[in-house]
Amino acid sequence: LEFMNSSALDAAATENIVKLGPEKGVIHLATAAVLNAVWDLWARAEGKYHAMYLSIQDPKQIVSCIDFRYITDVLTEEEALDILVKAQEGKKQREDQMLKEGYPAYTTSCAWLGYSDQQLKQLCSDALKSGWTRFKVKVGADLEDDIRRCRLIRKMIGPSSTLMIDANQRWDVAEAISWVSRLAEVKPLWIEEPTSPDDILGHAAISKALAPLGIGVATGEQCHNRVMFKQFLQASALQFVQIDSCRLGSVNENLAVLLMAYKFQVPVCPHAGGVGLCELVQHLILFDYICVSADLRNRMCEYVDHLHEHFTSPVVIQDAHYMPPKDPGYSCEMLEESGLYFKHFTFVQYKHWRGKNILKLSHKRTGLKMSKEKVFQKAWGTEINFLQSSFSVTVNRIFFFLLIKVPSFSESFDFFLILFGLSFIM
Ligand SMILES: [Mg+2]
Repeated sequence: LEFMNSSALDAAATENIVKLGPEKGVIHLATAAVLNAVWDLWARAEGKYHAMYLSIQDPKQIVSCIDFRYITDVLTEEEALDILVKAQEGKKQREDQMLKEGYPAYTTSCAWLGYSDQQLKQLCSDALKSGWTRFKVKVGADLEDDIRRCRLIRKMIGPSSTLMIDANQRWDVAEAISWVSRLAEVKPLWIEEPTSPDDILGHAAISKALAPLGIGVATGEQCHNRVMFKQFLQASALQFVQIDSCRLGSVNENLAVLLMAYKFQVPVCPHAGGVGLCELVQHLILFDYICVSADLRNRMCEYVDHLHEHFTSPVVIQDAHYMPPKDPGYSCEMLEESGLYFKHFTFVQYKHWRGKNILKLSHKRTGLKMSKEKVFQKAWGTEINFLQSSFSVTVNRIFFFLLIKVPSFSESFDFFLILFGLSFIM
């Protein structure tokens, strides 16, 4: 724990690697991958052997994990400690409540762009039968198409269910405002990623324009560090904070963002997906409810229903709620054959994307067989996260071997990060 605080995050900003970031881009993704693996190990170590979210319970210990550099104008160490100490009250009840009921989730799996109306209806109706009451729809390709699809889904889910829309950074600011205004009739709770994820003042302008329509702005899945989140909060540029377990510098930096969000009283609704993100982020949101916010109003965690079969401890969803993980660790361990398969697939994908032998080669080397459609569906857009997850398992072993066997290793941790970061882009 001491190492995580003193060396790991500091290393990401040392002079040697300042030009590769700092605290953004590939080097920050590498930091997250390494530290996620460390948190996984820590939860399994010291005889605790419990789920990761239970590792972050002691207020002083939590504060010692946070890098307050650049955020003390908004949150000091003393304030953070104060928030955490106050939230100790009722902690046990909230933990019991979570074990019994789980944490509320929403589904993104019903309404991706490109689905036919028939497919939307079928998926929506299946989800309703499984108890889902919160739905997210992808928008931004064609306005008339969005209006039709959103009306269809609103009609199916009824007025009392929650609907969100997600544009994945499609628009400029003015276009975002006019487009979303046209969709106000379906009463979306939020518009997610309306414009460039780096445009804090743009998000603030959109938030201000959409507030009278009762639509909030949600963002954060591409928000690369706590300093960006600080400014989003300061500028009232978002109404829903979407932390990501692999984008920020692991649990350490997410703790800082959760506490800042609490201070600004902005609900946290984590980003997740089918690449292990659900597995990881469930720990953070459980921690947020049990140890920080003690509030479920307007709060929910994203859920996407694919690729969980590659993890040794996949998430458990019951009645549209995340049930707290019971297996030890940070739920980030992939099955060995899945790690091998996707590492190999990513390599092949970059080298021979259009080649005819992709599948033949993959199957030959890994022994796993999937249809071409399934392989592309599973791997599309998810390479980095897969690499993070599958590397975590390997890194666990290498990293701790070095830490234990080589006394000077912690001093060369920044060098290790560079190597690891570069391995993403090789
Ligand atoms: Mg999104």
